[in-house]
Amino acid sequence: MLHRGRFHGSGARRVVLALTAATLAVLMPVAGLAANPQEKKDAVDERVEELTREFQGLDEKLARVIAEKEAAEEAMPAAEDALSQAEDELAEAQREDEELAARMTSAQNAQEDLRAEIDAGEQELADSQGAVTRIARQAYQNSGVTSDLALLLQMASSDTGAQGLGRVDSAVRSQQRTITRLSEQRTTNRNNQDRLDAIAVEIEDLKEEAAAAVLTKAAAENDARQRKTDLDSLIDTKDRASQTIEDNRAKTEEELKNQQEEQERLAEEVEKWEREAEERGETLPGNGELRNPAPGYPVTSPFGYRIHPITGSRRLHTGTDFGIPCGDPVRASGDGIVVSSGWAGGYGNRVVISHGKVDGKTIASTYSHNTRNTVRAGDRVSQGDVISRAGTTGSSTGCHLHFEIMQSGAYVNPMPFIQ
Ligand SMILES: [Zn+2]
Repeated sequence: MLHRGRFHGSGARRVVLALTAATLAVLMPVAGLAANPQEKKDAVDERVEELTREFQGLDEKLARVIAEKEAAEEAMPAAEDALSQAEDELAEAQREDEELAARMTSAQNAQEDLRAEIDAGEQELADSQGAVTRIARQAYQNSGVTSDLALLLQMASSDTGAQGLGRVDSAVRSQQRTITRLSEQRTTNRNNQDRLDAIAVEIEDLKEEAAAAVLTKAAAENDARQRKTDLDSLIDTKDRASQTIEDNRAKTEEELKNQQEEQERLAEEVEKWEREAEERGETLPGNGELRNPAPGYPVTSPFGYRIHPITGSRRLHTGTDFGIPCGDPVRASGDGIVVSSGWAGGYGNRVVISHGKVDGKTIASTYSHNTRNTVRAGDRVSQGDVISRAGTTGSSTGCHLHFEIMQSGAYVNPMPFIQ
């Protein structure tokens, strides 16, 4: 009779468990991204560092906006899943709550019906009891034969045969029925009372389950709300970042265009110098053998193409960056003549060295962002000579050496030359 739901065990323990779970759900921060903001911040900081390393001169605030947009986009699918799961759990909690309410209503209806049935049954019992008591009294007064029966027996002996006996038979059966009904009514009433007791227990259980379900539902509502806030916050971050990036696109494109023009102009200057030196019949020193200009320091950003995070266009990083502290010596990668030494816009303080011709192609090396240069145009240098002190001048976001190799005036990957 007792309809049990998914809950098992004693009602009291269930409530305690549900209370604990609900309290935790309400008090604990939502798992996932928000669970460890420090971890998220570290990841963004790391990405900002990476971006400013890869795109020297990229504004740090913009780099942060880009990193936050990327982090938001990355976190979005999980946040969407979490919200959808929280909504499912809330719907389940609401269903559970409604189901318990429905079960409570039917249990209370059954309780009312049974009470009415028991009242009617008790009336019935009282009536039957009255009839049986009358039969018993008559039987006692007439030496085991009721007066009704005695009368009938008398009638049977004077009556014609079977008809009289039939009446006697019917009277006996009527008395038996009365007695049987009394016994049956007692059983029915006892059963109804048992059912009523069971329903009372069920109603108590349902009350406890309903109390737990209310807490579960409240926790689920809170969780779903929090998940929605999390997702909205991610969408907001992404939208605002996209807007900032869009606002800076034109300006960045202009900057990149200027940088590229500067690179081309500097390359042309070197080519011109090389041509004129050749025309003068100047023999350039060196055998084309080059070495690392910053031995012992790590490569922090390699030569090559990459997609700019603001403009979305492909862009060449024209050299290899070495992570070398400001002030540390930068060395000539080979024997040669200093083509130029001085300020070069986005390159900051820059030294250019010509290393003559190898296999019919001119080779020059460049060293940029120096704190200061220690050679002058026209100086002859030997491989390994200190030519500058590393720095972060020009379009740069940290101490490093931007090292280039120009082969016949074109920027090429320096690494194969110095390994
Ligand atoms: Zn660089």
